[in-house]
Amino acid sequence: MFVVMACAAPAPPPPPGPPNPAAFPRTRPELTGYRETSHYADVRKFLDSLRALRAPLAFGSIGRTNEGREIPYVIASRPLVSTPSEAKRLGRPIVYVQGNIHAGEVEGKDALLALVRDLVFAAKPNALDSIVLIAVPIYNADGNERFAPQSVNRTEQNGPEMVGIRANAQNLDLNRDYVKAEAPETRASLAMFSAWDPDVFVDLHTTDGSFHGYALTYSPSLSPAAVFGGVYARDSLLPVLRERMRVRDGFEVFDYGNFVSDGRGLVSDTTVPEGWETYDSRPRFGTNYYGIRGRIAILSEAYSHDPLERRIGSTYAFVKEILSLVGEKSAAIKSLTARADSQPLAWGRAPDSLQLVAVRSEVVATPRMMDVIKEDVEKTGDSSLTQPGVPRGERRTGRYRTVRMPVYDRFTSTLDRTPPAAYVLPPEDTAVVTLLRLHGIRVDRADTLWRARGESFVIDSIITAQRPFQGHHEVRLKGRWERGPQTLPPKSFIVSTAQARGSLIVYLLEPESDDGVTIWNLFDKELQKGGRFPVKRIFDLSRRGRAATRRSSSSTLPQPEN
Ligand SMILES: [Zn+2]
Repeated sequence: MFVVMACAAPAPPPPPGPPNPAAFPRTRPELTGYRETSHYADVRKFLDSLRALRAPLAFGSIGRTNEGREIPYVIASRPLVSTPSEAKRLGRPIVYVQGNIHAGEVEGKDALLALVRDLVFAAKPNALDSIVLIAVPIYNADGNERFAPQSVNRTEQNGPEMVGIRANAQNLDLNRDYVKAEAPETRASLAMFSAWDPDVFVDLHTTDGSFHGYALTYSPSLSPAAVFGGVYARDSLLPVLRERMRVRDGFEVFDYGNFVSDGRGLVSDTTVPEGWETYDSRPRFGTNYYGIRGRIAILSEAYSHDPLERRIGSTYAFVKEILSLVGEKSAAIKSLTARADSQPLAWGRAPDSLQLVAVRSEVVATPRMMDVIKEDVEKTGDSSLTQPGVPRGERRTGRYRTVRMPVYDRFTSTLDRTPPAAYVLPPEDTAVVTLLRLHGIRVDRADTLWRARGESFVIDSIITAQRPFQGHHEVRLKGRWERGPQTLPPKSFIVSTAQARGSLIVYLLEPESDDGVTIWNLFDKELQKGGRFPVKRIFDLSRRGRAATRRSSSSTLPQPEN
């Protein structure tokens, strides 16, 4: 029976002291026996409930989606901070955790909401006493709302029955957009990165394929240009997390991958009968990108063939373990951040400090041999569906085998570039400059004509991909750099590499980079076979004569909203 109140009185303020756990909000999966995932309205309601309970959290929006939805964030730390400068003053690692970038992959969103609630109301000390958490539970909010049966939107997944789609409302895959930043969601995300400068970025996904024996698989930044955060995450954080997930949380986890026999195609050596191969090293993927910014990034992929409750459980445990390990390693991580930022500052002043930047790479040819757990799947002899996410006519057997096989989990550089003192762009390339600034890169402008020693790139060939990808025909250039005096017109844009994101600058602007601005067609109008690439390399900025420059801020900072 319903009791309808004719005139709703304002709710009385909650009593002082910690709220009664019975009043804590519950996520939609918790309320439905894990049969349903949160809609956008559920996420907003959950966060509003935390606010109504006066949970010590700061609430804001990173920006709006195509369809005008605010993308909420929550900040949790003890003591609470609500601005980037307050967070910086605490001197702790800042951890940015994002759920729902692929909106059919739902458990990151629901796990993150539950974890924020449980950490913030916990009486005992926890990770919030040693880190600052920025949680963005529903990044692809528009994709989340395109609910359809999982058999349509997420064919490889064991429920829930209704889920959103992978792409955003522009039909862009947000996890291929981190370089070109064509989606408002990506631009909001990059603005958050530049404003808060998180030490660690965690991106929550669900696998979509191989039948393996792990509740969750993970990856650091795979770019060989991620010399700080990539290597540290791979060698110092993830092995500890793997052990803790097994011992403390009861989940077997492993490096992200798929079986070579499942035909994803990364390993081209056909003499390899079976192996375990990771995905891609290019920065169009968020966690690879974030490593090139000199920071730590962790990709989390819950096992798509596990039911929703277990996927939420493994993701919850993994994020919780990340937060506490980052808290324990606080000093090491802050020092890594400082080294990543200070190293490029010496470029151009001290040639010894020059660090090569890997701008193209390939998967290692010499994999490690490791034990990988595989589940046997057998034919049913008919076309029946045995479990959502399992192909028709096949059934899982529950028989797991540990197989020793080559593990291709890392990449090696195939093209290194030495950072010049600066790159110089022609005055008309304002779209590229806007994009660089969005990436947190400082760009100056020359007032007068300027002559300098440097190099320009002669284009020998332009290779345009036949098949469109994300609305682009990707462009690859081949050619050679020629040394000589360069004449740079007034109003040229100057990008010194002696700034915190020096490696990213090289990655984005080198013409032969495998995922720079050239690939995404931003220079197309200026490219001609036998012609010169529009961006020049300059060796020495100190000889810039008297040309005055105007300093430009690297990006506009989003303001916290309530
Ligand atoms: Zn995904």
